[in-house]
Formats: sequence, structure tokens, C-alpha cells
Amino acid sequence: MGKALIIGCGGVASVAIHKCCQNSEVFEEICIASRTKSKCDALKAKLEGTTKTIITTAQVDADDVSQLVKLIKEVKPDVVLNLALPYQDLTIMDACLECKVHYVDTANYEPLDTAKFEYKWQWAYKEKFEKAGITALLGSGFDPGVTGVFSAYAQKHEFDEINYIDILDCNGGDHGYPFATNFNPEINIREVSAKGSYIENGKWVETEPMEIKRVYDFDGVGEKDMYLLHHEELESLALNIKGIKRIRFFMTFGQSYLTHLKCLENVGMTSIEPIMYEGKEIVPLQFLKAVLPDPASLGARTVGKTNIGCIFRGKKDGKDKNYYLYNICDHQECYKEVGSQAISYTTGVPAMIGAMLVMNGTWQKPGVHNIEEFDPDPFMNALNKWGLPWIEDRNPTLVD
Ligand code: NDP
Repeated sequence: MGKALIIGCGGVASVAIHKCCQNSEVFEEICIASRTKSKCDALKAKLEGTTKTIITTAQVDADDVSQLVKLIKEVKPDVVLNLALPYQDLTIMDACLECKVHYVDTANYEPLDTAKFEYKWQWAYKEKFEKAGITALLGSGFDPGVTGVFSAYAQKHEFDEINYIDILDCNGGDHGYPFATNFNPEINIREVSAKGSYIENGKWVETEPMEIKRVYDFDGVGEKDMYLLHHEELESLALNIKGIKRIRFFMTFGQSYLTHLKCLENVGMTSIEPIMYEGKEIVPLQFLKAVLPDPASLGARTVGKTNIGCIFRGKKDGKDKNYYLYNICDHQECYKEVGSQAISYTTGVPAMIGAMLVMNGTWQKPGVHNIEEFDPDPFMNALNKWGLPWIEDRNPTLVD
């Protein structure tokens, strides 16, 4: 079928690359390009001989558009799958525009100096992508990603109108460390130490960080404390799902994680303001990242399950209706299959699926689109096929 250029070679990319190699009929060739080429080479060496997919590697600084353009012109991919960090989204989109190649990512652009998750920078590219005749698929991970596909599916098959969505992200995994983050620590801590917010009647309502707490009994995991967070897909879903009155996002955190985070915050270690240290400018959060366990090393020691999904409330045929769609994923099963824990797995699998649907033409639509704007059915089928089967509950416990 075709060739994908995958940028980044961290936790999420590693899973997506394993999955592309399982799906070699579609991904006949992949090029893995990242800042540290040795990581790409190590993954290539691990996978070669286990797959028909032809793997090449390259070094690239994805902050530099000219390097990206040169690489894309050499590799000639059908799609670029951006699995580097949110800071690189715009440079990679610029390079895709210049080379007229489709673009897929899993997280929205964020400037280095403000931890504010908004689509406005990437949505500003809509017209340029339309004119170039290429597709940008934004947010093809789990959340954002599968949560948007679940919403589009519920809208298409289950409701005349969806009024309330609660997205619940539960990680019941235990890695045995007092404190570690399951994906890039810098991105993760920026996300959870920011103010919370949700959308009600078309307006953002802001909360203090971790101000709103609920307890929920998750299938496959059990009872967990969860907290309302700001999350990027709220912005696009509130626009794209008709009839929304309120949309919220909750994530589970254990007490130990929160106590450590509070302490780190209190001493200034989570700050993104640069400080001078022994004559050198450092960003405290980046320094913290350097001393925390590498998320990629957590796979072998993490046990337990994740449960992520959406509870929908709305109307069907004039009657009130509730509907819950979720996935349960087992950390150790993921580790056995691809050598990563479930957080990377639940992001890397949808990244591969999004790239596949764009590459094979199922989801091509010139412009810049969030995932819920596409027909959810082929993605839902692919989730079942590629390791993230979904479960329906027609009588879910609601969150008050
Ligand atoms: P990692 O830190 O593990 O990996 C990031 C990779 O990007 C590394 O290989 C890194 O290179 C590379 N990279 C960083 N900067 C550059 C650059 N300038 N040029 C080239 N390569 C670069 O992160 P994750 O795998 O955990 O996360 C990847 C993405 O997935 C992030 O955008 C994250 O926000 C997103 N995500 C989305 C989720 C979702 O559900 N939608 C959930 C979890 C993550 P090096 O090895 O040299 O550091």
C-alpha cells in the first residue's frame, strides 16, 4: 500500500512502529526519524526479521523546517506521522505543506513558554491544507483520539442529540516507584499542574488544579479517585458534536502521585520559567524530567489495567438515553506484545490506525480536521482488530 515517515522514537512511537510492522500489507515501508538516531536504529534492529515492512532510519531536528523538508523529499512518504512532542507540530505541518504530504499527530501544538492546550494554532492552517489538497488529522491517540471516535460513533449510531459527555481516563497501573509519569514527564506534569476547566453552555468554566474530585468504580480496575482536568479534545468536541451542553474530562490519580506533585510544585520544580543555575539557564521542569524514571522503562514493572472511555447522555427518539463506551487495556499484556506499558500502547495503536486510514484514502479530506469529523466506523473496526477492543454499557453509573 504505501510508505509512512514516523517522526519521534519515544514511548508512543515505539508502539506505533511495532503496530505498523504487524500491519505490513498497509505499511510496506516506514522511515523512523528522530533527534537521537541511535534509538531509531535500535528499534529497527529489534523489528527487522519479524516483519515484511521495510524499515529505514534518519536523524532529524523536527524544530527545523528545512531539515524536515529535505528528509520528506528524500523519503517520499504517503503520510507523515508526528510522534515527537507537541512543540514540533507546526514545523512538521509547515514541512508537510511544502512537500504536499498528509499529516497525522496525537497532541495539539503547544508553545514552549505557555502550558495552554488549544487548537487555534493548528486550526489556522485549515485553508492552507485545503488549498494544497492534503489532509491533516489532528489528535489520533487515545485522548484525544479514540475519545473523539467514540463520540462520533455515539452521535452516528446511538443518539439524535448528545447533551453531556464525561470522558473518564483511569490508569489502575502500579509501577512500584513512589513517583513517575507514564508518558513524557514534561508534557504530563504541564497538563496536570495547569488549571482545570470544562465547557458548559458554550463557555469555558475554569477551576483550580485538582479542585473537582469524584470517585468512580471502573470496570476491570475498581474504585478510583478522579479529578477534573483541562483536556484538549473538549475544545473540538464541543464544536463538532451537536447539542452539547456540558463536556468534562476526568483522570485518576493516586494519593502518592498527588502528594509528590504538590511537593515538587511547592519547591518550584514543576515551573516552566527558565532560571539561572551555575551560569547556565535551565527550566526546572526539564531538569525534573532528567531525574525521573524514563517512561519507556516502566513497561516491565507496571501491573494492572487502564480503562478509558466516554459516558454520553442525550436523546434518542424523544427519550433520555445514557451510553458508555470504553476500552480496558492490561499493562502486562501490552508489555508482552510490544515491550511497552498500556499508556504508550493505548496511544500508539490509534496513531497507527489514523495513519493507515489517511494513507489508504479512507479518511482523506483536504484541510485540517479533528478526528471526530471523520466517519468513525472504519476506525472502530480497526480498534477491535489491532488490540484495543471496545465495550458498550447501556446502563452506566453516571458522574454527578
Ligand atoms: P517521548 O518523550 O517518549 O518521545 C518523544 C520523541 O520525540 C523522542 O524520541 C524525542 O527524541 C523526539 N523528539 C523530541 N524533540 C524532537 C525534535 N526537535 N526533533 C526530532 N525528534 C524530537 O514522548 P511520548 O512518546 O510519551 O509522547 C509522544 C507524543 O504523544 C507527545 O506529543 C505526547 O503529547 C503524545 N501523547 C498523546 C496521547 C494521547 O492519548 N493523545 C497520550 C500520550 C502521549 P529523543 O529521543 O532525542 O528525546
